[in-house]
Amino acid sequence: MHRVKKLPSLKEFGDKYSLTDVEKENRIKRIAEIKKILSGEDKRKILIIGPCSADREDSVLEYVSRLAVVAAEVSDKFLIIPRIYTSKPRTTGEGYKGILHNPYADNQEDLLQGLYSTRKLHINVIRETGLFSADEMLYPEEMYYISNLLCYMAVGARSVEDHGHRMVASDDELPVGLKNPMGGSKIVLVNSVNAAQKKHRFIYGGWEVETDGNPYAHAILRGFVNKGGRNYQNYHYEDIVELHDLEYKNNIKNLSVIIDCNHSNSNKNYEEQCRIAKEVFGFFAENEAVREYVKGLMIESYIEDGCQLPGQGIFGKSITDPCLGWKKTKDLIDKLYNMFE
Ligand code: PEP
Ligand code: MN
Repeated sequence: MHRVKKLPSLKEFGDKYSLTDVEKENRIKRIAEIKKILSGEDKRKILIIGPCSADREDSVLEYVSRLAVVAAEVSDKFLIIPRIYTSKPRTTGEGYKGILHNPYADNQEDLLQGLYSTRKLHINVIRETGLFSADEMLYPEEMYYISNLLCYMAVGARSVEDHGHRMVASDDELPVGLKNPMGGSKIVLVNSVNAAQKKHRFIYGGWEVETDGNPYAHAILRGFVNKGGRNYQNYHYEDIVELHDLEYKNNIKNLSVIIDCNHSNSNKNYEEQCRIAKEVFGFFAENEAVREYVKGLMIESYIEDGCQLPGQGIFGKSITDPCLGWKKTKDLIDKLYNMFE
């Protein structure tokens, strides 16, 4: 390991890269709303929706500005959280790692600039749209610098068995969604949720810290990959019931699952997300417990349909997983709104 740059402390980022008191209060209110949905007190559903990776501030702000208009229209039934994912796990370890690692268009790595760009992006989303975002904890250390801007944190399929992620997820400040691991084990998923709901003492941000356990840690079903690399779905009715029963037996608090409509569930056929989302909403009429348990959906969506290679420079088109374009996204939200009584 070579030391490249000394990073500033959170305070040293200064006012320009920090929330105002009013924004801090609004963030706390938004988090409280999400927690009420997860506890079942508020019957609305959560839609975590946005691009696979937040690659450019201009197109992300354009996207979230459109989303904010829809979010206000559907707020009696849905709470919309934009996905602003600033760091990306890579299957082979190579490729675009998100704005935090690659803040420049040429993909040069610069973590200090990446932290400024990431904080600026989350703050500008709040200032321009009033929405607070979800981001992924690619690794625990980065969250020390980012989590105080978010209303939701996700732990990805490649990280969910890692004890470091589970310990940071056990801080009850943020609702944390833990994805099923790549291999699809529901037991491993429930163990992860359980671990994040427990208290932990560990090293974080230069401190020995202790958490209270996070009762708002919950599962996300994203589909899985078999030994041969083939994708399989786990958004089906039977999967949801099986996970529910396992969580119940393991005394998980605030029983909740979010269905990720893309990734292995759609076999990365982004248009399938519409069918999957509607299918899941269809289960609500079949079983009241499933309706209560499924707290919402994750959808990968951007301005343009599909994806492009990094460097192609098409505004609002994903450079990682293929996404549903804006028109289809708006249409889907409208349909879900009409389906959900
Ligand atoms: C993602 O949400 O874009 C992602 C990388 O998810 P997963 O960890 O499920 O692959
Ligand atoms: Mn993705």
